[in-house]
Amino acid sequence: MALIACPGCAKEFSDEAAICPHCARPMTGSPDAIAAQSPGREWKIVRLIGGLLMVTGVLAWTGNSTDAGMVFLLGCVIYLGGWLGARWMQRS
Ligand SMILES: [Zn+2]
Repeated sequence: MALIACPGCAKEFSDEAAICPHCARPMTGSPDAIAAQSPGREWKIVRLIGGLLMVTGVLAWTGNSTDAGMVFLLGCVIYLGGWLGARWMQRS
């Protein structure tokens, strides 16, 4: 048995409970099933990494770094890959 956080009231209780003892929110399936209901979550992380690389590239660019352009370009490619991946996941 493990403790899970209620999506409704954010309080923790046993994952074996059918409803939240704090706010009576019904629990549908395991946390794994809930996670599976939101596809494209990993693609959001990919886009986040791409976005961070783009920001890093832009910041380094102002510092006259020669590799900054490549970092920015890499960030763009990763972000685009995450965006296309999320679209592809939704279609299938
Ligand atoms: Zn609750």
